[in-house]
Amino acid sequence: MDHFELKNGVLHAEDVPLPRIADDVGTPVYVYSRATLERHARVFREGLDSVPDKLIAFAVKSNPNLAVLKVLQREGFGADVVSGGELMRALAAGMAPEMIVFSGVGKTRAELELGLDKNIGQFNIESREEGRELAILAGARGERAPACLRINPDVDAKTHEKISTGKAENKFGIPLVHAREAFAELAALDGLNLRGVAVHIGSQLLDLEPLETAFAKVGQLVEDLRAAGHTITHVDLGGGLGVPYKAGEHPPSPAEYGAMVARVTRDWGVHLTFEPGRVIAGNAGVLLTRVVRVKRGGNGPPFVIVDAAMNDLARPALYGAWHDFDAVQPSGERMTANIVGPICETGDTFASDRDCDALVAGDLAVFRTAGAYGATMASSYNSRGFVPEVLVDGDRYAVVADRIAAAAIMDAERVPDWL
Ligand SMILES: *Cc1c(COP(=O)(O)O)cnc(C)c1O
Repeated sequence: MDHFELKNGVLHAEDVPLPRIADDVGTPVYVYSRATLERHARVFREGLDSVPDKLIAFAVKSNPNLAVLKVLQREGFGADVVSGGELMRALAAGMAPEMIVFSGVGKTRAELELGLDKNIGQFNIESREEGRELAILAGARGERAPACLRINPDVDAKTHEKISTGKAENKFGIPLVHAREAFAELAALDGLNLRGVAVHIGSQLLDLEPLETAFAKVGQLVEDLRAAGHTITHVDLGGGLGVPYKAGEHPPSPAEYGAMVARVTRDWGVHLTFEPGRVIAGNAGVLLTRVVRVKRGGNGPPFVIVDAAMNDLARPALYGAWHDFDAVQPSGERMTANIVGPICETGDTFASDRDCDALVAGDLAVFRTAGAYGATMASSYNSRGFVPEVLVDGDRYAVVADRIAAAAIMDAERVPDWL
């Protein structure tokens, strides 16, 4: 459920008509709804009511905007970060260091040091090599870094191959077969407080079964590690819950997810960490765009050319992803169209042969479910600027990220004097 609805024939974000934002800020622009973010945060938390000891750490990579992070910080969320840049954002949004978890397969030495400097709550270690390096850095400070070992359970998440992370051939985590040995080696190091295990098998999961399979493997591992004499107090179950991008998709609800987690983890006796991203932010944002022109006369349906492009919203080009596309002031007429951006790549196609609201040049439209993995994946390809972001709260809104003009990007470039 979200708060982007038609009121008197005009699409609103909460109580703000989208044409007002388009007029004031220009298009394309990402528009987020605070009420939707808060609702999703609450529903996720309530789904896990029966899990007593937990941390919900928002996956910052899904939407790192500072204002979005602030909304979630106020909801009691911590942060799952995958870079030094994200770590600094989580802190800037007021998240407590002990509520920050640092994931990622390629943390540099500087990033590990940064995590230690800031006294973050947990490092999720993805290899023996990383664990040894972290132990040396923490040991040199006379500290023991709080850590979990990320394992790769070799489970097929049944999602798009580019967002699957828990198969044996993926780069993430330590293969389950080597986990006991790796844990024993790293747990013995003075610089580490290796206190548990972590798992994250992929994103946009539409079925609980792969998650349950992975969690069951984690449960068995916890039992084995304890039998080997290790103290296990923490398990991180990652993120991955999918969202409906189109009619007919019914991802598991947070309540169903929570019930499964409670059942599978009942006897573990550990503190659990969750790292939801998309399920919190996905439907809390739209990409608002204006039709540049409608081009007819080709072999197929007309091209609705919008002013947003693959550099602003990469998911369709990257994953063949579907985003619902709706007029801001629908007339009731429909058309079949190819919806494309202006970029000089055929991949700059948002939808082919799509049944959508009838549109003409100058009309406004939205790509829905663009609040996660949207603005954050933007680039300046074709020397386009970076899209601004707006946060709506009831009948007010604020620009929470400025448009970065193509000229400002060019200003950061230099022609050496020997040219
Ligand atoms: C991306 C990621 C998440 C969030 O995934 P969602 O599908 O957006 O919930 C959580 N944990 C880790 C380690 C990730 O890389």
